[in-house]
Amino acid sequence: MFPNEMRTIPDFQAFHRWLDERKGWSQDLKLNMILLTGEVGEVANEVRKVLWRAQLLEAEMGEEAAWEAALAEYRHDLGFELADCLAYIFKLANNAGIDLEAAYRAKMAKNVQREWTAPPPGNHE
Ligand SMILES: [Mg+2]
Repeated sequence: MFPNEMRTIPDFQAFHRWLDERKGWSQDLKLNMILLTGEVGEVANEVRKVLWRAQLLEAEMGEEAAWEAALAEYRHDLGFELADCLAYIFKLANNAGIDLEAAYRAKMAKNVQREWTAPPPGNHE
């Protein structure tokens, strides 16, 4: 199976089972959780680069344009780091015997119905 042939979340999970076997990569849940955490740190590092670059550009083009320009410079690398995180999420689901599509659908259905009494994650304004 090749990445361009994958269409569904089960396809992605199957790809990662195949890739783990082909590469001889660990199936250990704890190790893969640690590796995912490292990848999240790599995402944060890319976002940090965007922030710093935007601050440098802000004087010459304004805040919004500076942010867009900085993001454009790092979008490719940020995308790769997000992809690494996604890969580890598929691996963790595989290693734990989780049907990620079913889990995702069930959890998002729950979130749609949920009312937060405090600001939800990601909405701190
Ligand atoms: Mg990475």
